[in-house]
Amino acid sequence: NQVPGIKLNNGTLMPQLGYGVWQVPDAEAEQAVRTALEAGYRSIDTASVYGNEEGTGKAIASAGVPREELFVTTKLWNGKSETWGRDNVLREFDASLAKLGLDEIDLYLIHWPRPMRDDFLAIWKTFEEIAQSGRAKAVGVSNFRPADLERLGAESSLVPAVNQIELHPLLPQSELRALHARLGIATEAWSPLGQGKDLLTLPAVTEIAAKHGRSAAQVVLRWHLQLGNVVIPKSVTPARIRENLDVFGFELDAGDVAALDALGAGGSGRRIGPDPAEFD
Ligand code: NAD
Repeated sequence: NQVPGIKLNNGTLMPQLGYGVWQVPDAEAEQAVRTALEAGYRSIDTASVYGNEEGTGKAIASAGVPREELFVTTKLWNGKSETWGRDNVLREFDASLAKLGLDEIDLYLIHWPRPMRDDFLAIWKTFEEIAQSGRAKAVGVSNFRPADLERLGAESSLVPAVNQIELHPLLPQSELRALHARLGIATEAWSPLGQGKDLLTLPAVTEIAAKHGRSAAQVVLRWHLQLGNVVIPKSVTPARIRENLDVFGFELDAGDVAALDALGAGGSGRRIGPDPAEFD
């Protein structure tokens, strides 16, 4: 396994490349995650709201990979229209562990800040308790904006290990990446391939791919890795699952990186997913 580890601020290593399972139906998740584990992935990214923690757990149980070699992430779905407190969080956390069939996970994330709810500070207090219990080795956040991270930092001494955000060459998130570097938060990119849409057919990307004899997806994943991002590309196609992991045998040169950086330069970039300021 050639995937390097990124050192999190709790001292543990997180594989820099993992497998994401959003939009994989529960009934297909076992097969998909098994294919990924057999290909050599050791990090799996799921979430309560994806509805596939059970299928993911079955694959983990049956694949024969020692638990200590795996890095499992799931996320709190703080999505019901109520103010969230300790009881809700612990109930959801227990439910996720039960579905995954695990006694502990490696990383637990608050899925969205939902700033209009004004409850992520209360949720984070319970995340601190979960981290102290050891049932999640690390805790972090997802879709947090700079202002959300500053607020968290003002109220809590526990710095999130990770902020998982939409990030790809069309949305390079320079401000958040700089803030993460300052605070000691690892940057994890969701939709790292731009969901396989326009990004992979842009000439800037396909020309670099042709030059290296690699696919567009592999070139985009290299851009992330060379920036220091953690990536969790998703595919249910076995050949693509393997292709997305086979990105350690080549390197982009400075000109390639500059051409990919130029795709996101100027303006606030192009989101594919929801804006965290509005998402509830
Ligand atoms: P992605 O950028 O990983 O793109 C996935 C899509 O790209 C696939 O469905 C397929 O159509 C295409 N693709 C994959 N490999 C390819 C290849 N080698 N060649 C050509 N096309 C290819 O998008 P994603 O699934 O949105 O994001 C990845 C993971 O990030 C998710 O599975 C999930 O785990 C996580 N995620 C988290 C959040 C969040 O709010 N925290 C939101 C979205 C996604």
